[in-house]
Amino acid sequence: MKLVEVVLYEVEMKMKTPFTTSLGTMQNKKFIVLEVKDEDGVIGWGEGVAFEEPSYTEETLKTSLHMLEDFLIPALLGKEIVHPDDVYELLRPIRRNQMAKASIEGAVWDIYAQKQNKSLAQVLGGSRPKIEVGISIGLQPTDAALIATIQRFLDEGYKRIKVKIKPGKDIELLRTIRTAYPDIPLMADANSSYTLEDLALLKQLDEFNLMMIEQPLAYDDFLDHAKLQKHINTPICLDESITSLDDARKAIEVGGCGVVNIKIARVGGISEAKRIHDYCAEKNIPVWCGGMLEAGIGRAQNVALTSLANFTMPGDTAASSRYWDEDLIKPEVMVNDGYITVPTTLGLGYEVNRKTLEKYTINKRVFSI
Ligand code: MG
Repeated sequence: MKLVEVVLYEVEMKMKTPFTTSLGTMQNKKFIVLEVKDEDGVIGWGEGVAFEEPSYTEETLKTSLHMLEDFLIPALLGKEIVHPDDVYELLRPIRRNQMAKASIEGAVWDIYAQKQNKSLAQVLGGSRPKIEVGISIGLQPTDAALIATIQRFLDEGYKRIKVKIKPGKDIELLRTIRTAYPDIPLMADANSSYTLEDLALLKQLDEFNLMMIEQPLAYDDFLDHAKLQKHINTPICLDESITSLDDARKAIEVGGCGVVNIKIARVGGISEAKRIHDYCAEKNIPVWCGGMLEAGIGRAQNVALTSLANFTMPGDTAASSRYWDEDLIKPEVMVNDGYITVPTTLGLGYEVNRKTLEKYTINKRVFSI
């Protein structure tokens, strides 16, 4: 295929409720939607999920726009692309900027799947007809609010609960949850808010029978996580630290990572996400699919990716309605009794609702050859 046109939409949507982590609080999400057309007129959709502030990784909405406009779109327009894996190679000379790269690579996967007469899940080799869904709950103002929120999602059928923790909101918070719910599948995500100086505190996590502790230490570290793993039984899961297959290999080789959270955007696209999945399967390391508060297009990609066999743990891909009053796709991503059915229609498996997209678009530019 040859890409002949890219329409770049800057979109702003208000989240139903603010989402708070150790990194900050988000209420309105500004993000990028890419509509990519090939020479046969087939259209693929991509989503750029970088936040406005460089708190999760170094990328932001503005750096993504800069990279797309000045480097990534020009590097791909008019180039011969046989398979979406070629995009990773074509963009390899441009260092990092994984989220910006993933936004356009995802659209190429959508086009490729349609041209193969398959769904995205099918071209990826996904084997699950439905995927298990967990929920990620931000920091809550009170214990009562936290318990009420957990109860609401358990009632909706979500299969595991993930809570955000940070220094000062950790051991007592987890004790409160475990007292109320001794047996639910539970995990905690620290978003890099501790160091090895907190070893005594981190050792206490073992008493809560957590499925894993996610990214307790620095966002770019493997070694300290390996040291920590020697002192705690709770498996360490890495999120921020894994930006490529090579990172996953290093983290696993040094013993700093027993579980991998795979995010398409954080690793530069669907191709690299699949490679990490395949590598972890070989090494018997379970993986699950994390979230970036995606709207429908990114969410649909997560559903397709999670249909791969080694996604043995429930991910963060919740229903559209968990975050949005109105999503950009139809049908919206729906959760039934803790499961999302993987669509079998061509490409993404969900249709972009152009009316809704236009309604939330604040800026739009067209690039073509
Ligand atoms: Mg995380």
